[in-house]
Amino acid sequence: MTPGDDLMRGAAAVAARVLADLWPDDRAVVGTEDVSATHFVVCAHHDGVRVRRTGEADGGLADVVDLGSAEPFRLPPGARRVSDGVVAVRLPRRGLRRRPRPVDWTPTEVEDLCRRLNAADALVIGTAETSCRVCGFADQLGSERWFAGEPQYLTCSCCGSRSGSDDLRPDLVRWSRRRWVDGGRAWRYPEDRPADWDPDAAVAALPTRWRDP
Ligand SMILES: [Zn+2]
Repeated sequence: MTPGDDLMRGAAAVAARVLADLWPDDRAVVGTEDVSATHFVVCAHHDGVRVRRTGEADGGLADVVDLGSAEPFRLPPGARRVSDGVVAVRLPRRGLRRRPRPVDWTPTEVEDLCRRLNAADALVIGTAETSCRVCGFADQLGSERWFAGEPQYLTCSCCGSRSGSDDLRPDLVRWSRRRWVDGGRAWRYPEDRPADWDPDAAVAALPTRWRDP
């Protein structure tokens, strides 16, 4: 094993972890298909959708999204349809500070670039998020707080946080949650509170990314 193998193995592990976060319900099945000194391939499945993420030593980072029987919701910049139900997504080169080379990337850079790919994939797949990232509450109507990577600017009936402003990043989510807990976990609209509401269980059921460390 060469040092290049090690770096690629590390990059693949980060890429696989971030890829699983593409689906907000934590139900993605993720695996590593291949790692060498010059490339890695990780993949994830979720309800008939399959994403293969490839990093190459000289070619950057790209995804192939197989939507199964679904149609692409939208094609963001850097995405192109390969065949029916299959879309290739590549990060636009513009905005990258230097030529992308996974062997040079730090884990933080791999994470950041993979999150940008996730955002592009979410547009293609049309992923919906119905649970509040801060308190875990989801209303019975299935109201979408995020759809296809775009916030729907919905105010949570429970903690009062607003999607797209109070829940953009994990640090903001934790800050908003702290504010809610410090306020006695009061309901913004108490009439929406389900009789069997368990705030601890709701927060515990959130995807890892949004939970407290
Ligand atoms: Zn909430």
